[in-house]
Amino acid sequence: MSVVKRTSSNVLLDTALKNFYAAAEEMGLEDGLIDILSHSERKLAVSIPVEMDDGTVKVFEGYRVQHSTAIGPAKGGVRFHPEVCLDECEALSMMMTWKCSLAGIPYGGGKGGVSCDPLEMSKREKERVARTYAARIEPFVDAWTDVPAPDLGTGAPEMVWFMDTISKMRGRLEPAIFTGKPIGLWGSKGRTAATGYGVATCALELFKALKKDVKGATFAIQGFGNVGTYSAKTLQDAGGKVVGISDITGTYYCKDGIDVDKAMNYVQNIHPKRLLEGYEQPGLEKMGLSDILFLDVDLFIPAALEGVINANNADKVRAKYIVEAANGPLTPEGDAILDEKGVLIVPDFLANSGGVIGSYFEWAQNLSGFFWSIEEYNERLIRIMKDNFAKVWDYSQEKNVKMRRAAFMAAIQRVSDAVRMRGVFL
Ligand code: GLU
Repeated sequence: MSVVKRTSSNVLLDTALKNFYAAAEEMGLEDGLIDILSHSERKLAVSIPVEMDDGTVKVFEGYRVQHSTAIGPAKGGVRFHPEVCLDECEALSMMMTWKCSLAGIPYGGGKGGVSCDPLEMSKREKERVARTYAARIEPFVDAWTDVPAPDLGTGAPEMVWFMDTISKMRGRLEPAIFTGKPIGLWGSKGRTAATGYGVATCALELFKALKKDVKGATFAIQGFGNVGTYSAKTLQDAGGKVVGISDITGTYYCKDGIDVDKAMNYVQNIHPKRLLEGYEQPGLEKMGLSDILFLDVDLFIPAALEGVINANNADKVRAKYIVEAANGPLTPEGDAILDEKGVLIVPDFLANSGGVIGSYFEWAQNLSGFFWSIEEYNERLIRIMKDNFAKVWDYSQEKNVKMRRAAFMAAIQRVSDAVRMRGVFL
């Protein structure tokens, strides 16, 4: 390969690029395509001036990156988090391209965000941030160009503010530009649980592929937000024992199993900030923040932030299998150490694709104006997740490569084919 390789001081972007180059090289992808796909089609940075509740004005930085629209409109979430930056959005946007490609849905990849701390803002402040962000990116989003969705720190309320702002600016209702909306406002039954449901489906399929019984197997889940809770619940309902859960307030461990329904009820209906702090059940032990990473369990699901398993701590991980629910939870160094230890890893862009597949269902329903039942939604979601898991598993067995590499190759192949068919000028 004679392409000048891009690198980045941002760990996530550097990882995304390294993973891409390695897979592209192994596939023998032509230089021109490597160059095209290692760059983003569009990177947008905006300022978001907001009047805070105390009357002062704060200016936040916002971004939207469209990595590729070769297969279809850019698709991906918008995160509200203090560490959001352009490089992070670019990395996540590229990962969305591979995720949508692998999932077999008609989308490219995009990602956006605002550098802000939603935990420190009132609802009204968040609304003003969301509406100003939507107004700033308005010329660049549409049902057939770029379709944002929830991500870390955002959810249905933000999607409503986005949709309402753009609908008012354009003078017509624009439901299909954003997915992850509430059911009462063009959202879809099933979307809230879709990512966690998909993650758990991958874990269950992995047990099946390995001919292991889920009943009594032990699980630990880092992050007890939308994805973590529904992954935990689905695994427990399937007979698994969730012994550890965690959020920013610490690790909660119970050797006989966490009562996932009770913990879910606590964060969703009792704690004012939807946290596990103060959650109690018999036999519960409270541990430190990072202890969740090192529990002696069969399967660990990192469902929080990126880079949590890295060169400094990977040797202490005791789980046999990892299903990556967060985007990029392992650094390449962490990944290599786990690989050496024989830990089997289901990569993020396969494992957490239930969210964007669910978004595709919502978009399709919005465009046709016809809504599906929850049964139809879940049945289609599980079928696609199982097929995609099998595709990657079989390929990795056949070619004797790790699942991550197999997933990358399949994903890059579909995007490359689209670019080749459409030509260089996109
Ligand atoms: N934020 C989710 C992801 O990273 C969902 C994106 C979407 O639904 O477009 O996959």
